[in-house]
Amino acid sequence: MRVAVVGAGAAGCFCAVLLGRRLPGSHIDLFEKGPVPMAKLALTGGGRCNLTNTFAEVGDLKKVYPRGAQLMRRALSRFSPRDTMAWWEAEGVRLHEEDGGRIFPDSQDAMQIVRTLRRGLDKAGVILYTRSAVSSLSDLRSYDAVLLASGGGALSMLEGSGIAMEAPVPSLFALSLEDKGLRSLSGISLPGVRLSLPGTAFHSEGALLLTRSGISGPAVLRLSSYSARYLHDNGYRGELSVCWVPGGEDEVLHMLEAALARTPARLLSSVPPEGIPSRLWELLLSRAGLRADLRCAEAGQKGLRRLASLLTSDTFKIAGKAPFKDEFVTCGGVSLQEVNSADMQAKKIPGLFFAGEVLDVDAVTGGFNLQAAWSTAYMAAEGIVSRLTQSGK
Ligand SMILES: Cc1cc2nc3c(=O)[nH]c(=O)nc-3n(C[C@H](O)[C@H](O)[C@H](O)COP(=O)(O)OP(=O)(O)OC[C@H]3O[C@@H](n4cnc5c(N)ncnc54)[C@H](O)[C@@H]3O)c2cc1C
Repeated sequence: MRVAVVGAGAAGCFCAVLLGRRLPGSHIDLFEKGPVPMAKLALTGGGRCNLTNTFAEVGDLKKVYPRGAQLMRRALSRFSPRDTMAWWEAEGVRLHEEDGGRIFPDSQDAMQIVRTLRRGLDKAGVILYTRSAVSSLSDLRSYDAVLLASGGGALSMLEGSGIAMEAPVPSLFALSLEDKGLRSLSGISLPGVRLSLPGTAFHSEGALLLTRSGISGPAVLRLSSYSARYLHDNGYRGELSVCWVPGGEDEVLHMLEAALARTPARLLSSVPPEGIPSRLWELLLSRAGLRADLRCAEAGQKGLRRLASLLTSDTFKIAGKAPFKDEFVTCGGVSLQEVNSADMQAKKIPGLFFAGEVLDVDAVTGGFNLQAAWSTAYMAAEGIVSRLTQSGK
């Protein structure tokens, strides 16, 4: 039995280890175009590797997998986060949970994950070829099964195969904004804002970080994931609406009136609403045309209405996308219509399997992308084993 795995990333290496254990005596070749395997895995989670998530806070899977939720429902039922954690712990990797259900190795070291898989490959007798880019599937004709786990790139390999692909575009990025005032507040973070793209259904909630070029943080990364293709198609330009405090405009206006009435003699600039840092409050006051030296009692109705409007639907011009160094993924890849979701096999080319980011599956941050790699690799491994054992090869 001869199996070729293309791509020594998380999905390819995990699948190769599983195959080596399930098919002793088989011949498994793992081709990696880079000089070392798992180069990206070593960088995950800022070097700490957020390798999965408990999913305890996940309601709707579409909220974490904007693309591929349906496939992931099936994949997670076959190889769940619990299975993932049990697998790693059985390999001697102790794990712990952090906020948001994120799971990390106790060692806080992504290299422990890399080394564990590397050991698994060696023990399973997988033959790793580095600096060995596969340029065409036809080069692999002699194998009984092929796993394509080449991540976000290398889709050119499938050109002419008849397999449809969704064009790859980046996901998980920060946004540059044209607003100089906001950019001057770099470093400020807010615990909970609501972001939306006016005229679309794209929106997200969560913490926000003001940066030198615009905004970042969980709410922005989530919005970039939900709207990855829309923003790409619009050249990363357009309007962004920010709701700084929860509630509608009237509700916030009443909240402001009541709060200011309690402290009539204080400076307006000294009484920011809960969760709004003072420097941002000062900026919002000036944008609402309210002088910083006004007393609370002196803020007129019109000014307060402008302020309530800004607090609930402030708008900014998006000037482009900005890098987010901790994690990024590709939206797009092999169309899920092309893949049999029971075993990750190509419908049009029997014997060709897919796993990981090469598929049109991607997630928000939190360990969900690596879970997709583990689960789809597991299903592909099962599919390959079943194909090879049934055919008696
Ligand atoms: C900086 C960073 C941090 C991240 N942190 C996290 C995190 O903490 N948690 C999380 O869940 N996700 C994280 N992600 C996302 C996660 O790393 C990916 O979703 C995951 O690595 C995808 O695994 P993969 O095996 O499908 O693809 P990859 O890891 O991209 O591996 C594909 C491999 O295939 C090779 N290859 C490509 N073309 C060819 C070819 N033609 N021939 C041979 N080899 C080829 C590539 O060189 C690569 O090694 C992060 C991503 C980045 C960039």
